[in-house]
Amino acid sequence: MTAHMRAAVLREFGRPLAIEELPVPVPGHGQVLIRVVASGVCHTDLHAVNGDWPVKPTPPFIPGHEGAGVVAALGPGVTNLAEGDRVGVPWLHRACGHCEFCISGRETLCLAQLNTGYSVNGAFAEYVLADAGYVGRIPDALDFADAAPVLCAGVTTYKGIKETEVRPGQWLVVSGVGGLGHLAIQYARYMGVHVVAVDVEDKHLALARDLGAELTVNARTEPDAAGAVQRALGGGAHGVLVTAVARSAFHQAIGMLRRGGTCALVGLPPGGFDLPIFDVVLKRLTVRGSIVGTRLDLHEALAIASEGKIRVAYERQPLSAINEVFERMKAGTLIGRVVLDLQKPAPAPRLPDASGRAAGVPAGV
Ligand code: NAD
Ligand code: ZN
Ligand code: ZN
Repeated sequence: MTAHMRAAVLREFGRPLAIEELPVPVPGHGQVLIRVVASGVCHTDLHAVNGDWPVKPTPPFIPGHEGAGVVAALGPGVTNLAEGDRVGVPWLHRACGHCEFCISGRETLCLAQLNTGYSVNGAFAEYVLADAGYVGRIPDALDFADAAPVLCAGVTTYKGIKETEVRPGQWLVVSGVGGLGHLAIQYARYMGVHVVAVDVEDKHLALARDLGAELTVNARTEPDAAGAVQRALGGGAHGVLVTAVARSAFHQAIGMLRRGGTCALVGLPPGGFDLPIFDVVLKRLTVRGSIVGTRLDLHEALAIASEGKIRVAYERQPLSAINEVFERMKAGTLIGRVVLDLQKPAPAPRLPDASGRAAGVPAGV
């Protein structure tokens, strides 16, 4: 008899996710099956279910790319992991391993990459498949619910801060203090960097101050947010990390930069924004994108979190609450991250049978 699992499935863009009973997938060569304990909800999941971006996933699929849990079964050929290991499945599900980007330690740029919860099924489920070479190992000191948001929000902001090239003692603006931004503030403080936090919700800014931001700006009530940062820092910030899900924040971010500064773009609202050519050229500004992080970035981000220096502000919800969570995310009223609790009150191991690939699981592409 095939074992089953609960999963949240998107069948049509813009529609609510359906909680379904599906066969537990069977790990193929080089894959592991993870029993998910905690699964973070990223704004990217909301973009995915809305079909917001030019490259869209193919419904039906299971979103979720912050799945933390334990290895429940090994596929053939897996030698680096054992059943029971604590691991997490990140956005970078796998890459080819041999293109120019992979061999130069930039596997997040690989053209052949697969993405968890987007091009392959993700972690809004009791079980998820992962590639044994691309999982993050979760240190013992880190609780699953604390580890899950690091798998995307943590590593993405840790990497994004590096991409701004800010140094200890310098100033970083974190624009957008949601799931990503509230971790960005803490990674920046860990690196000895001063933080200005910008958001449009006072509650998010209060959290930012609690987490170490020395200055906060409400971009909704402050008519000239860029000018406010310029004045407060006597010539702007050395780096700006944009995690905001609002196009207006991007143009504004450029105006917050100090001469010679770098803006790393991480937030992904659909559309574009105007870059002032004169300012970029004369002030020698750098504007660059930053996409999640490599396996090494993930290893580092998890290690730092396990030192107890990163406090994830999270709210636990059951899988069945996913659609309300998305509604609140859309409204901008979530504080920090929501972590879905996939553990049943009395978790019984429900492993796949060995009869081959389970039929009926939405495969994505
Ligand atoms: P979130 O919804 O938790 O947080 C977004 C925050 O932006 C909220 O605090 C909101 O109040 C704030 N905001 C809205 N308008 C703003 C404005 N005008 N100025 C400043 N702040 C504003 O979302 P999240 O999970 O943190 O994700 C943020 C974005 O990052 C999403 O677009 C997501 O897809 C993207 N993302 C990118 C990567 C990457 O690798 N580049 C990785 C993960 C997520
Ligand atoms: Zn994400
Ligand atoms: Zn590659």
